[in-house]
Amino acid sequence: MSVSLYVHIPFCLKRCIYCDFVSGIYDSGKANAYIAALKKEIDAVAAKAAISTLYIGGGTPTALSTDALSDLIRHIFTHISLTPSDDIEGKEGNEATIEANPGTVDRVKLQAVRSLGINRTSIGVQSFDNSELDLLGRIHSSEEAEQAVYFAREAGFDNISIDLIYGIPGQTPASWEKTLEKAVSLGPEHISTYELTVEEGTALHELLKNPPSSLFIKGGINPPAEETTIEMYEHTIAYLASHGYVHYEISNFARPGHFCRHNLNYWDRGEYYGAGLGAHSHVEGKRYYNTDRLDEYIQALSADKSPVKETEYITGDKALSEAVFLGLRRIDGLNIEHFSKRYKVDLLTRFEKEIREFQEAGLVEIVDINGLNSLSGLNRSLRLTRKGLLLSNEVFAGFL
Ligand code: SF4
Repeated sequence: MSVSLYVHIPFCLKRCIYCDFVSGIYDSGKANAYIAALKKEIDAVAAKAAISTLYIGGGTPTALSTDALSDLIRHIFTHISLTPSDDIEGKEGNEATIEANPGTVDRVKLQAVRSLGINRTSIGVQSFDNSELDLLGRIHSSEEAEQAVYFAREAGFDNISIDLIYGIPGQTPASWEKTLEKAVSLGPEHISTYELTVEEGTALHELLKNPPSSLFIKGGINPPAEETTIEMYEHTIAYLASHGYVHYEISNFARPGHFCRHNLNYWDRGEYYGAGLGAHSHVEGKRYYNTDRLDEYIQALSADKSPVKETEYITGDKALSEAVFLGLRRIDGLNIEHFSKRYKVDLLTRFEKEIREFQEAGLVEIVDINGLNSLSGLNRSLRLTRKGLLLSNEVFAGFL
């Protein structure tokens, strides 16, 4: 089975107003101390496991200078050689992704990371509408986002993903359609579309609670109504399908051959190591979490101690529930036969009540693996219906 490595870079040039990720403002002194500690943690992982997918995320990994980033990537590949992951879409392969913020990349930086072995980039575009980008507090314009995609192509990336957000205050179905059209016109291999969530403690939460009287947002301060975001999501599915993108996970679309291997491993409850501030690992039935305090993290690693703050054992019923709600994130659903073999439990018996209720509500269905309604036989899968996709959080909660 594939094992993944996630490496976290917790620095950004500026905080976006919706962000609740583990990240602070970039400072070169802190970044240098952090990278030294991070390398130690990566070395410890390298001694334990053969890694198939690497994902350098953040924060903003590309907030680091070209030299610092190159040095880190060289260090990772000196200690880890990527092994091919399990067959995905009928192919073996390995994948090394870096997240890139359009406000922190140029041709030289992207060429440097590509030449060092990073073969996929995920560009945080979020919107191609400048007023939406301004509202979100992004540090780049729509034009810079477009240019970042060109830079990535010129640097030799043939696997580019673009992240987009819908449900932004002031956003309309028409402006979302324009963003999607622009994204598709740039020809990325992969597109992720996330609905904006307003997390407590973020600047966006505060802004919506107490909007300043001077603030004017075309379309109003409140995020679009639920029916509007549903309309946007349904348009996304239809529009991207008509342009050759396979909808393979609730929020993710890809051209054939470009599903994200790293994330598929998460949704399959695969094993992964997380290195860096606040990073999570899932190994041998345990999930453990690193401290999210920068000083604590650096001190622990400098003293050759573990930065792990908490460990949770995910076994028994907890593991089964997790397998169901993670598996249901995939559009092709959970293979019932594989589930039974892996967990030694018959899925349809163990979750008989929940499945029956959600079937009656039209939220899940059992189909054969080719997507046809199936009453019997092997190779069936349990998956969300179209209605279930729109109410996925409700379904996941029902399996907890
Ligand atoms: S760039 Fe990403 S991690 Fe950084 S503040 Fe914005 S959303 Fe958060």
